[in-house]
Amino acid sequence: MSISTDTSVKARVHPSPNHGARPDGATIAMLILHYTGMPSAEAALQRLCDPSTEVSAHYFVHEDGQILQCVPESRRAWHAGKSTWKGEEDINSRSIGIEIVNPGHEWGYRPFPEQQIAAVSDLALDICARHGIAAWNVLAHSDIAPDRKEDPGELFPWEALARAGVGHHVDPAPIGGNLFMQEGDAGQPVEAVQSMLVLYGYGVDVSGEFDATTRHAVTAFQRHFRPEKVDGIVDQSTVETLHRLLAALPGF
Ligand SMILES: [Zn+2]
Repeated sequence: MSISTDTSVKARVHPSPNHGARPDGATIAMLILHYTGMPSAEAALQRLCDPSTEVSAHYFVHEDGQILQCVPESRRAWHAGKSTWKGEEDINSRSIGIEIVNPGHEWGYRPFPEQQIAAVSDLALDICARHGIAAWNVLAHSDIAPDRKEDPGELFPWEALARAGVGHHVDPAPIGGNLFMQEGDAGQPVEAVQSMLVLYGYGVDVSGEFDATTRHAVTAFQRHFRPEKVDGIVDQSTVETLHRLLAALPGF
C-alpha cells in the first residue's frame, strides 16, 4: 500500500485492511458521503480498520477537519453495501467513499462543525476534479440505499457544499400548497413522481403504487434536497424541487 495520500488536500494515511480490487475497466464516477453513526470518532475509526467488520471508506473526516485516508483511491472500499443508483448496483466499484464523523440519528445527531465541512468540501472538490466526477454524482449514502440508510442526514449542509462547487443543488421550493400523496395512494400522479425520481437516479419502480420503497426514496430525496421537512410525503414543494433539480441538469 502506498504511504502517501492520493489527495493534494492535507491528509494523513491511516490504513484499513478492508478493500479489494476494482473490476477491470471500472471508472470512478461517484462520490458517496456518509456519517460514521457511532458514539465516538475513535470507535468509528476502529470499526473501519477492523478486518472482521468488512467495512471501510477511502477517507475519514474528524469534526475538527482532520482528514485521514484509510484506503487508496485505486482500491475498492466497502462503504456502500446493498445500494442502487441509475440502475447501477455495484456502487463500491465505481465510487469513492468519505466517512464524516457524527454520532448520527442513533447516538445524538448534531450539526456538522464548520471546519469539518470546509475539510469535506476541499477534499470533495479535489476528488471530483481528479476523477471528473459529475456534480450530480455526489450523493448521500441514503440516496443510494434509501430503505436502509439515513446518512449523512438532513443536517448535512449540502447547500454550503454547493456554494463551494461540490454537488448538484437547487433552492428548494417553498413548503405550501394542496398537493399531498403518501404511502397507499395510487394513480397517474404517483407514477409521474416515480418517473421523476427514477430519472434523477433513485431506485424505485414506476408502478403508480405509492409503496414503502417510494416512501423511502421520497424521504431520502427530502433529506438531501428539501431538508426543511423530511416526512416521506409528496407535497407541492417536493415535486417542484425535484423538477427544478432535473431541469438544472445539462441537456435536460
Ligand atoms: Zn453510510
